[in-house]
Amino acid sequence: MRNSPVGGKALPVTRESYLIQILRSAWNALPPSWRNSPAGRLLRACIHLPRTIREHPSFPGNASRISIPHLEIHITHKCNLTCEGCLHFTNHRHSGTIPLTDIKKSMALWNKRLLPKRFAILGGEPCLHRDLVDIVYMTREMWPHSRTEMEVVTNGLLLHLHPGLPQALSDTNTRLSISIHSDGSISPKYQAKIRKALDLADQWQKEYGIALNIDDSLHEWTRGYTGFGGEILPFEDNNPQNSWDNCITGQQCFQLFEDHLWKCAPLAYLQLQDRKYALSEKWQPYLQYRPLSPGCSDKEIVEFFNRGAEPVCGMCPNNPQKFIKMNPLLPVRSYKTKTLKAAPP
Ligand code: SF4
Ligand code: SF4
Repeated sequence: MRNSPVGGKALPVTRESYLIQILRSAWNALPPSWRNSPAGRLLRACIHLPRTIREHPSFPGNASRISIPHLEIHITHKCNLTCEGCLHFTNHRHSGTIPLTDIKKSMALWNKRLLPKRFAILGGEPCLHRDLVDIVYMTREMWPHSRTEMEVVTNGLLLHLHPGLPQALSDTNTRLSISIHSDGSISPKYQAKIRKALDLADQWQKEYGIALNIDDSLHEWTRGYTGFGGEILPFEDNNPQNSWDNCITGQQCFQLFEDHLWKCAPLAYLQLQDRKYALSEKWQPYLQYRPLSPGCSDKEIVEFFNRGAEPVCGMCPNNPQKFIKMNPLLPVRSYKTKTLKAAPP
């Protein structure tokens, strides 16, 4: 366990946490094969060692955090894939990797006020961030309550760049969630890469006992806009309530982006798309969306997470259609030369 300050306040190091540190070091010194043996698993189940995290600290005047369903953060806007129709717009080649200190500063603006049930570290591709392991530890220190289920969401292809990740996931009780974006019928090259990634994740699961989740992002894939780059267009089906009822991000895709809380990934990262491509007038109503600022009241937080359908939801399809995306290994330039159209109704 690390003992870095949270929100500017150094947490007290108790005798118990020293004991936990010693036990953890002893545990980590054991060979992975033994840690994963039936005896090792039994021991771990008894003392909950890898899952032990610091008790949720109470801060004077902030004892009651507001429980929220979900929160996500981009630690980088870059991605190594170009998934057609990516709802985070990171297939359009955005740059920007957020320094660990900025991520920490951003989280510290909210961690004493919010208690997310789920917190996702993602991007872009989080494995493109050199400090991914430290970010996992730091995030758990920000939200140490066991009620907060943490996950790292990745396309998996660069997991091998972070040999320290499985230990961090195990120490912080963080799930590894791998999205599958294609298959061998579309790209044998992708198939070979993802096979290697899944084998590595499987090995981590066996050796470290981490929770592993595999998401089908091939067959469960819908379009939230049409076109590519500066040519993208909103759906504007003129039925925000229906679009919300069939929300392409599942209604719980709240983002912590540039210190503010955003309703969903498409609304947050539309800003990046506009900064890069100067989008058409069609997007202006959606670019005017105002996220929640850290200076808001508790009442405004509750209202924000309970809003449901808003006029901005009108940019999304009211009847989303699934489609099979093109090879996500294609370079960006190949999309620029194609006109991407919505699937027929
Ligand atoms: S892997 Fe695909 S869906 Fe995920 S962020 Fe990258 S481009 Fe978007
Ligand atoms: S704008 Fe509304 S409907 Fe569209 S993804 Fe965001 S929350 Fe869902």
